[in-house]
Amino acid sequence: MNLIHKNIDNVRRRVQNACKRVGRNPADVRILLATKTISPERIKVAFEYGETLIGENKVQEVVQKYTSLKDIEHEKHFIGHLQTNKIKDILRSEVSCIQSLDSLKLAQKLHTRLFAENRTINALVQVNTSGESSKYGISPQRTVDFVRELEEFNTIKVKGLMTIGLYSSDFEKVRTCFRILSSKKQEIEKLGISNVEMTELSMGMSGDLEIAIEEGATIIRIGSAIFGDRNY
Ligand SMILES: *Cc1c(COP(=O)(O)O)cnc(C)c1O
Repeated sequence: MNLIHKNIDNVRRRVQNACKRVGRNPADVRILLATKTISPERIKVAFEYGETLIGENKVQEVVQKYTSLKDIEHEKHFIGHLQTNKIKDILRSEVSCIQSLDSLKLAQKLHTRLFAENRTINALVQVNTSGESSKYGISPQRTVDFVRELEEFNTIKVKGLMTIGLYSSDFEKVRTCFRILSSKKQEIEKLGISNVEMTELSMGMSGDLEIAIEEGATIIRIGSAIFGDRNY
């Protein structure tokens, strides 16, 4: 059996087991393939096996892979830090959701461009739940106000929150990150802000997907557990 297919089986099994433990429906947890550095040929192998959602970190990679993948039905999210000078390129490449909305400046420029093109885009607000200075994202303390400030940018349809948990073998610390995200989601839901829905929690990667699912993840972003270690 193909190794990528075998790895996908294994991830699907992990999702099912985690869901079973907390009484969730596995259909409520989508697997997003984190495909940075992965060639279109290998991404196609995952599509053949029924996967439909990918996430890229770099605008340049999205653009490079666009032609090879455009004839295969799939959905594409952007999960890396988006520089404002790349907004045009990303909007041209049929990305359906920007999971990494992390500044008002980005939201402002994105809105201006979307408004000019008479269209909208889905987005998740990236929250820096681990507090590491190396990570992008809005601080948990500022997240509610930030989402309120997004209300005026009505071309940006906020669908939820995203975080990258602490990279650590101390699973309780990792869990704390995911709990912070989940509690912010609940806090924001209660406010009923227009253009803002809180349906998605994008959290959990190859090493911590079980914890993320236990804490309410609706999208898990999986790279190495499916494609193996990355060669940069
Ligand atoms: C690479 C990446 C992932 C996947 O990480 P793995 O540990 O390889 O599963 C998830 N989210 C983001 C934002 C990434 O850059």
